[in-house]
Amino acid sequence: MKVLKFGGTSVGSVNSIKNVKMIVEQCDENVIVVVSALGGITDRLIATANKASIGDESYMESMQEIHARHSEVIAGVVPAQHQAEIETRVNEMLDELTNIYRGVFLIKELSSKMLDAIVSYGERLSSTILSRVIEDIVLFDSRTFIKTETQFNKHIVDFDTTNRLIAETFAQQPRRALVPGFISSDHVSGDITNLGRGGSDYTAAILAATLDANRLEIWTDVDGFMTADPRVISSAYVIEKLSFTEAMELCNYGAKVIYPPTIYPVYHKNIPIVIKNTFNPTAPGTLINNDYDPNSKAIKGISSINDTCLITVTGLGMVGVVGVNSRIFNSLAQSGVNVFMVSQASSENSTTFAVRNADAELAVEVLNKEFATEIEQGEMSPALAEHDLATIAIVGENMKSAPGIAGKLFGTLGRSGINTIACAQGAQKMNISIVIKSCDLRKTLNAIHDSFFLSSSRVLNLFVMGVGSVGSDLLKQIAKQQSNLLHNKALNLRVVGIANSHNCIFNRDGIDLSTYREQLEASNIVSTPTAFKDEMLQMNMFNSVFVDCTDSGDVAAQYYDILSHNISVVASNKIAASSSYSNYIMLKETAKARDVKFLFETNVGAGLPIINTLNALTNSGDSIMHIDAALSGTLNYIFNTVSSEIPLSQAIEKAIEAGYSESDPRVDLSGKDVLRKLVILAREAGYTIEQEDVEVDYFIPREYFGKDINTFMQLVKSMDADFEQMRMQCAQEGKLLRYVASLNDGRAKIGLQAVDSTHPLYQLEGSNNVILITTDRYSEYPMIIKGYGAGAGVTAAGVFADIISLANIR
Ligand code: ADP
Ligand code: ASP
Ligand code: MG
Repeated sequence: MKVLKFGGTSVGSVNSIKNVKMIVEQCDENVIVVVSALGGITDRLIATANKASIGDESYMESMQEIHARHSEVIAGVVPAQHQAEIETRVNEMLDELTNIYRGVFLIKELSSKMLDAIVSYGERLSSTILSRVIEDIVLFDSRTFIKTETQFNKHIVDFDTTNRLIAETFAQQPRRALVPGFISSDHVSGDITNLGRGGSDYTAAILAATLDANRLEIWTDVDGFMTADPRVISSAYVIEKLSFTEAMELCNYGAKVIYPPTIYPVYHKNIPIVIKNTFNPTAPGTLINNDYDPNSKAIKGISSINDTCLITVTGLGMVGVVGVNSRIFNSLAQSGVNVFMVSQASSENSTTFAVRNADAELAVEVLNKEFATEIEQGEMSPALAEHDLATIAIVGENMKSAPGIAGKLFGTLGRSGINTIACAQGAQKMNISIVIKSCDLRKTLNAIHDSFFLSSSRVLNLFVMGVGSVGSDLLKQIAKQQSNLLHNKALNLRVVGIANSHNCIFNRDGIDLSTYREQLEASNIVSTPTAFKDEMLQMNMFNSVFVDCTDSGDVAAQYYDILSHNISVVASNKIAASSSYSNYIMLKETAKARDVKFLFETNVGAGLPIINTLNALTNSGDSIMHIDAALSGTLNYIFNTVSSEIPLSQAIEKAIEAGYSESDPRVDLSGKDVLRKLVILAREAGYTIEQEDVEVDYFIPREYFGKDINTFMQLVKSMDADFEQMRMQCAQEGKLLRYVASLNDGRAKIGLQAVDSTHPLYQLEGSNNVILITTDRYSEYPMIIKGYGAGAGVTAAGVFADIISLANIR
């Protein structure tokens, strides 16, 4: 004989009930079928009762909806010949229920006894319907054999009576029996009671244990017990096997798939539990039994309770005193407060434990009463409650033989910037529990799940600000590469936030990059650097990366805060790295302290590996003596384009049209862009330098740059003739004009230079960059890096490379 329990989701709709019928009728051994109320009905019964109790007339509409839901199911699943009978029986019950609600509405009072009566209708109705859906099934009333007694205001199963009554009731077992789950009655008064929310699982386990079933099957809406709550962790997967104790730990810490008390009765009798999916009956599900598998993973699953209050009892009066903990836990037990985690300081001067928020007030009251004398004498402080917390447990029997699990756990938390408020590991070593802030729960679960279960693949959550030429090219490249990275490099690159200068969009599951422009257009979330950052922090996703493809100082001003929240920053924006030296260092140090990265390879030479190369040289002990470089793709392009036919002003216009220049070309023409790059290079080469320390030779008079852009372009036009003359003269001497940035033993300088054909900067096509690095090791022949140094495509590719470097893949 086996016991099959179908939860609310399995009996929630016409189609799912058809599956239940099929599953039960296909069993070729005796079965007891335990059913929950139709999905969502228990919640609805309670909500309707609450409405009625405050005199809210809309309880009647709620009641009608409950009625309609059952009628719809009857019409859909009960065979025609039984419809009238079932409708009559169901309507009778619904009439009774309506009368109870009316009473509650009139006297505006809802006792727990009345509520127990009200919620019992859920299972009574569903089982009545199912009794005429499944062929040849005999309906039983669990109130007649599941008996409870009251302890600390809770209904506890009276096992002696229950076991006896079950044995009597099922002495002659029909081939198929149907039992409403959850409901019970008081062993003395006979009043209707229940086994607590989710209690149908428990009903099934009690029946299975008492009647020595071969197995207990829990049929629900997921393929089995999963590594984490699938509603929070989309990558959670089904666990093939669990031991009873592992399952018990996971359930006690919130894995909703089984109601925690369920496991004990079957564990005691060594009856295996199988979790199965009503919507996918052929899936193997999860087997829970007593077999110990020494080869199974150290960590089987993670679960969490997002309703945690930590209570701390402190005082020097506790040190070395025997019996303080016994008084704490006895007094809590006497009041029915359930404690689910305990942690004690080794000095014994404080004991901290976790309870549900709803129990916190009572717990504090009870403890302050218990220790009133000690508190009055100053030996102990009043109990302290800390709310809005969450508990997470990682569970696995093999944890005890695998060193480094705690290290890995806390390393993961540290890297994700999650603060652990309390932790506990049982001596049995099959569970490590941590308490964190409730707002960090989702991120923590994701980070731990990623680290323990998906170590072969990594997720990066990207927040991209700026979708001008570089940003949009980056998104295009990501969209193209996403699936390849996922399948070949196990890197899940998700863009979860995008902002242009007007709007922003967010999506935790990843934004569809084929339509992000339309989504931005349609979005009504206004984009400002702080608003975007705030939303990103609010989303609190693990492995987040902020990608700055703007050229805005206001965006760069957010980096410190972003890095401080353990989010890496990848920037094509040069403003931060070239800002004051103190800011640059603070950002680098913050990144280091937070174990995240601040990357800006594209700040110099677009996609060329310049900063990484300088870092590699200095990290390996080389020292940089000189740098000579042509770093402005725009200026190189301009000087390569100017000719007797194309004057300076026209060459500038062409550079703008070709998309080489910064959005404001004056940033290039004033040398400002090169100056920023040189400052960054010098800093990366190990020099302490500010922008003001760079000597600048202007080839366009400095005062022109103060004018508006149109006037500026007019003024440049007036220089065309003089510039052409200078160019001609150089040409006659066999020289070319180059805008050169140089660093000599820490002295930085930028300006126009005429170079002859022997100079390494002479051969410089189009918008290319070239950089000569002379070091201790590369002294006679400097290292030369040369190639495209401007353009959206290569810059975006450089940003992309920085992003990928964060994932540490090869
Ligand atoms: P039923 O109505 O069948 O009793 P429940 O809603 O009580 O169903 O429990 C099943 C739900 O538990 C799943 O739909 C899933 O969302 C949730 N759940 C939470 N943690 C886990 C987990 N570790 N494995 C599987 N399901 C889980
Ligand atoms: N119907 C009850 C509830 O929703 C019992 C159960 O479904 O297990 O809590
Ligand atoms: Mg359930």
